[in-house]
Amino acid sequence: MSALPDIRSADPETLRARFRDWSQPAYRVDQLLHWLYARRAAAWDEMSNLPRALREQLAVAYSLTLPQALRVQGAGDTTRKFLWRLADGSLVESVLIPANPALYGDRSDRHTLCISTQVGCAYGCQFCASGLDGWKRNLQAHEILGQVLAVERWNAERSEGAHSETSRLISNIVVMGMGEPMANYAQVMDALRALNAPWGGGIGARKITLSTSGVVPGIRKLADDPLQFRLAISLHGATDEIRDRIMPVNRKHPIADLAAACRYYVERKGKMITLEYILIAGVNADPAQAAPLAALARDLHAKVNLIPYNRVEGLPWERPAEPDCRAFAEALRAGGVTATLRLEKGHDIDAACGQLRLRTEREIAQVAAV
Ligand code: SF4
Repeated sequence: MSALPDIRSADPETLRARFRDWSQPAYRVDQLLHWLYARRAAAWDEMSNLPRALREQLAVAYSLTLPQALRVQGAGDTTRKFLWRLADGSLVESVLIPANPALYGDRSDRHTLCISTQVGCAYGCQFCASGLDGWKRNLQAHEILGQVLAVERWNAERSEGAHSETSRLISNIVVMGMGEPMANYAQVMDALRALNAPWGGGIGARKITLSTSGVVPGIRKLADDPLQFRLAISLHGATDEIRDRIMPVNRKHPIADLAAACRYYVERKGKMITLEYILIAGVNADPAQAAPLAALARDLHAKVNLIPYNRVEGLPWERPAEPDCRAFAEALRAGGVTATLRLEKGHDIDAACGQLRLRTEREIAQVAAV
């Protein structure tokens, strides 16, 4: 991996100061930013309207990388899963999900991209493939936002060419892939600021959602941040007994502390939060669990997103039968809560977070061992 800082981790003010030192006119920074974000450049030579001498000067001071697609898997409903190789060979995943079910057979034109923030994860949620091999490292800001740009480039290459500015695909971002975003807070926020900024990705703050397994100090920091990003909690259990069993983070930040931090966020931002709840057979999908979940959701004025579990190889957990999932959703609604049941897209493509990376890493290790 290059020892140089990546240019997409440099903020525009730093670039402007540098360009002044280099006696470059200010508009050159705008041209550079345009290449970095609107046209998703992956090499200095692509920046055809920058003078060659400036490109060479930039190449001495900065690296310029985008994640490389190692695998792209697609399901019939156009959900796509991307496995990226980063500059140091680390693997991370993103998942592209149509935001609207396609109407009348047309492809949806609004898409959500779920992005990763760490290589592996230290949080050890019992049902999750991302934590199975532990935590390797935090992603840097350019590696986080690079997932969005690399998907846009992949999409543009398939239609009007890599640098096309007309074929924007991603309208929403959820930070819900591999890793706990609150454990890499500064880099995640730098990446999201760039994705949100008019000089960067131009994606509205309200269309960007951070999801945490329940890291209370991170929720409070997000509440105090001037940017209006949304918050989702990966709850998956409405009692300490269940969360302690499947999510070790709960022992440090039990539900009462988590709920207090969520209330603080809602007060500060005036925004509704979402409680994500993976339904796991025999663990948290019993109808009796709907009552404490509904009480918590009412208390927090939160909506609930139910996701039937996707099996992970090597883990013992099972997906509940579809009627049981529907009954759970109905019980929440009867308890006065807005609940959606996401009968998940991409069920057939290793859709559980971290699964594709794990499988690929093991395949690579097997090949290397032969
Ligand atoms: S669910 Fe999220 S926080 Fe928990 S182990 Fe997986 S990636 Fe980490």
